[in-house]
Amino acid sequence: MLPYGRQSISESDIAAVIEVLRGDWLTTGPAVAMFEARIAEIAGGHRAVTTTSGTAALHAAYAALGVSTGDRVVSTPMTFVATTSMASILGATIDFADVEEDTALIDPNAVDAVLDERTKVIAAVDYAGHPADYDRLSASASRVGARVLDDAAHSIGSFYKGRPVGDLADITTFSFFPTKNLTTGEGGAVVAKDPVLARRAHEFHTIGLVRDPKRFRISSEGAWHQEVHEFGVNYRLTDIASALGVAQLRRLDEFKRRRAEITRRYDRALGELDGVRLPVQRGDVDIVRHLYPVRILDGRRREIFDKMRLQGIGVQVNYMPVYWHPVYADAGYRRGMCPNAEAFYSEELSLPIYPDLTDSQVDQVIDTLGRALR
Ligand SMILES: *Cc1c(COP(=O)(O)O)cnc(C)c1O
Repeated sequence: MLPYGRQSISESDIAAVIEVLRGDWLTTGPAVAMFEARIAEIAGGHRAVTTTSGTAALHAAYAALGVSTGDRVVSTPMTFVATTSMASILGATIDFADVEEDTALIDPNAVDAVLDERTKVIAAVDYAGHPADYDRLSASASRVGARVLDDAAHSIGSFYKGRPVGDLADITTFSFFPTKNLTTGEGGAVVAKDPVLARRAHEFHTIGLVRDPKRFRISSEGAWHQEVHEFGVNYRLTDIASALGVAQLRRLDEFKRRRAEITRRYDRALGELDGVRLPVQRGDVDIVRHLYPVRILDGRRREIFDKMRLQGIGVQVNYMPVYWHPVYADAGYRRGMCPNAEAFYSEELSLPIYPDLTDSQVDQVIDTLGRALR
């Protein structure tokens, strides 16, 4: 089965990991620091904190923002559940704002309609690698004193109005799961513009430990001393994974180019097919295309999905609206709330796209889809 996404691992990636295994530090060592510095470089120069997953990054980001019971978070239903569940787990209530009909990105007008003084965070998702409209979202957030979070699990390496992902929101989270734009196996990162937020994310991901003597509240102990001011977890990424991350980041431009080539090949061939709508891209972005989400029209998505899978093409559906999950349904969220997201979900089909996908495999996907639609 051709998967819809998968990692690309080179000999230099493998060598980087082996070097760490022969060295002194398996975790909390120089590879972690190096990976964080490299992420910061491509993400607007802001401090990065690596984590054990994208979900962990979201948990740490919301914790750093101080999200807790009584707070409200405005977010999109067209995402993986962790975007909102990591705020829910901290006690926040989610206000879902519908997406734009064509891009499936959170619609700033819908955000404005649900925003109020209780809103602590607007959490956007750069669906398929395409940045949301951060100028509008930031303006809305400032009006009510909220902060903007970018769940950039799909969009590391993308740009919006010439600015890189990582520089678009107050706080940005990445995922390095194998299907994403680059991988560390499991892994993720938080990037924060405000150094205090970055420090809070860092402390949260390392058990809440404070190691800076200037901030100690107990000063009578010796040089071994460290202390906890707020509870945290252990979400530290290892040096093993970080070395892979550094090696993968060097290949991000190559990955971006190949994903763009595959996109052009799909665009050209599928543009001539009836019954399919192609993904759109705004003029003010430069994207690493993470997903290639087509719309299958005339109520045929499920039929086409099943036919493609039977033919060995590992298509996927991204995503069921988040508030359909029973955990949200049980909390009183009702279907029908975000009609654009629901319509998008009913038609969406993600075609395989990843750097090692060959032209002939792309053509195989195109042929199989063409035949399935006939
Ligand atoms: C993958 C993903 C996550 C979660 O990342 P993990 O590393 O799998 O925990 C969060 N949000 C979005 C939009 C994702 O695609």
